[in-house]
Amino acid sequence: MTTIRIAHLYPDQMNIYGDRGNILTLQQRCRWRGIAAEVVAVQPRQSVDWTSFDLAFFGGGQDSGQALIAEDFVERQAAGIREAAEDGLVLLAICGGYQLLGHYFLTYTNEQLPGIGLLDVHTVGGDKRLIGNVVVRWNNDGHLEASAPHELVGFENHSGRTYLGHGVRPLGRVVRGFGNNGEDGTEGAVYRNVFGCYMHGSLLPKNPHFADHLLALALQHHSQNRLSLPSLDDTLELTAHRVMVERLTH
Ligand code: GLN
Repeated sequence: MTTIRIAHLYPDQMNIYGDRGNILTLQQRCRWRGIAAEVVAVQPRQSVDWTSFDLAFFGGGQDSGQALIAEDFVERQAAGIREAAEDGLVLLAICGGYQLLGHYFLTYTNEQLPGIGLLDVHTVGGDKRLIGNVVVRWNNDGHLEASAPHELVGFENHSGRTYLGHGVRPLGRVVRGFGNNGEDGTEGAVYRNVFGCYMHGSLLPKNPHFADHLLALALQHHSQNRLSLPSLDDTLELTAHRVMVERLTH
C-alpha cells in the first residue's frame, strides 16, 4: 500500500477556524482511495528530515501564536523546508502560516516576526481586520478536470495585508472578499508546489478539487511519476461549494 507522509507544522500554536479539518480531509480522501496517510506533528525544538515528507500543512494563528513559533521556524526548519520545496514538497499554508512563509510579518503593534522567505511576499498588519466569506477564481493553469469548479471558497479573518513580489504568482483573483490585501484583487501565492492563502473554513472540505490537486502533486512527488487519482463521489462537497459560490456572487 502506498503511504504518503504529511507534516503538520506547530498544530498546538497554529490552528484556528477549523484549519485542522484540512488534515482530516487529506487523510480521508487518501483512505477512500486505499492510500495510507501518516500525519506527523512538528513541534517547537524538533529536528525534522524534510526529505521524508510528501506534503506539509501550516495552519493560521493569532499574532501571539505566530510570535511563539516564528523564530523556531526560521532557525530549525527554514533550510530543510526550502530545500525540500525546491525538490517538489507540497506545502499548504493558511493565513498566519502563509505569512510566516514570506519574508516577514510586521504586526499592527509594530512587532516584526521573521518569515522563512520561501514565498516572495511580505505582510503588514492594519488597523481594520479583513473578515468574511471569500470566493476566488483559481489560477489553476488548466490542471483541473473539465467538470471541476474554477472557484475556491473560504472564510478570512486577518489584520495582515500581504503583498506579492515577482517570485510568486497569485493563487487566484478575488471575486468576493478581500484576499491578500483588499487592494490588488489577488488572493494567495504560489511558488512551485507551495501554496499560501487566507482561506480558512476549513478550506479543503469545501474545495475537494483543490484537495485533490494537492494530493496528486504529493503522490507525484512521492513516486516521481504522474499518477492519476481515482475520482470520488463529491456530490455533497460540491453542492456545499456551489451553494456558497451562488450565495456570495448573486
Ligand atoms: N495573526 C494574523 C493576522 O491577523 C493571522 C490571523 C489568522 O491566521 N487568521 O493577520
